[in-house]
Amino acid sequence: MTVPFLDLQAQHRAIREELMAALERVLDRTAFAGGPFTAEFETAFAAFCACEHAVGVGSGTDALWVALIALGVGPGDEVITVPNTFIATAEAITYAGATPVFVDVDERTYNLNPALLEKAITPRTKAVIPVHLYGQMADMDPIMEIARKHGLFVIEDACQAHGAEYKGRRAGSIGDAGAFSFYPGKNLGACGEGGAAVTNNAQLAEKMKMFRDHGQKKKYVHAMIGWNARMDGFQAACLSVKLKRLPQWNEARRAHAKRYDQLLSGLKDIQIPYVPEYSKPVYHLYSLLCPRRDALIEALGKKDISCGMHYPIPVHLQEAYRDLGLKKGSFPVAEKCAEQQLSLPMFAELPDAQIDEVAAAIREFVEP
Ligand SMILES: *Cc1c(COP(=O)(O)O)cnc(C)c1O
Repeated sequence: MTVPFLDLQAQHRAIREELMAALERVLDRTAFAGGPFTAEFETAFAAFCACEHAVGVGSGTDALWVALIALGVGPGDEVITVPNTFIATAEAITYAGATPVFVDVDERTYNLNPALLEKAITPRTKAVIPVHLYGQMADMDPIMEIARKHGLFVIEDACQAHGAEYKGRRAGSIGDAGAFSFYPGKNLGACGEGGAAVTNNAQLAEKMKMFRDHGQKKKYVHAMIGWNARMDGFQAACLSVKLKRLPQWNEARRAHAKRYDQLLSGLKDIQIPYVPEYSKPVYHLYSLLCPRRDALIEALGKKDISCGMHYPIPVHLQEAYRDLGLKKGSFPVAEKCAEQQLSLPMFAELPDAQIDEVAAAIREFVEP
């Protein structure tokens, strides 16, 4: 049995006709760049996130960047985030003109460790970007408390956490802004690229909308130097079709995670995901730690089971960020994750039989 890491064809088979009809509506109205389909999606996505406003943009990277710019983050500022994330989190900080400063993560949740946050704050710190990794939200209460005490903005990197909850509150609704990616493989994925920034601050939403459209206040009137970060009409239409299914898809992911949990708990050398009391995750990824990670991935590969690594090189050790001068040993927990983490097949349509197959193969590897 071949077990893919992700099967987008299975998702699209079930909604193909609806997607095609949505694409035709966009074509007929020639509403390609921003426009009515983007506005319609923004309204629905804001409601899904329990936020007042959503601003559709070109990618999750755009969403992070637009939020930073609109909050006034720029040259000379420092922005705190974590090293075990997709590089886009740091890139957005860099392209806002600021400097990324890293804080290590909690060894059970792999999310920003609030106990280490205050020590990383300097007079130049302007914002914090906690990442809700693998679809589980960071411990937001202490993060917000520390940020407010020091007058810092908080942008949630919710690019992997569409619909995740923290004490009943939705990802993106707690900080000053939240950034989402609709990269095809995310829990809500476009048929191409897309992203959105959400907020409850009307002024901030207005600024982000202006910035993504060349700083236009109204047609031909540019109040600020902006950029073209508009959402594509075709993508917005596809996303509206998919958003209606997202709650049931997230439920399916939770059920799969529960099955993996039951089959893998207590296995030697396998650390399954830890879910704190406060958290209702959406399992963008089902993540394990295993000290013999590379050998395990190879053994699974021999059985046609595909896995991922998120992420094998932490951002502070990437060549791109060598100028920060951060050495190995700077962030021991993130570095351990980089060496030991693997992600198992996870998508809403994943059959139980394939989960059982993956679990059996892991059991055979660790307890031969
Ligand atoms: C996917 C992702 C991004 C970037 O999103 P894009 O849409 O690919 O630009 C940023 N941060 C995290 C944590 C992500 O997983």
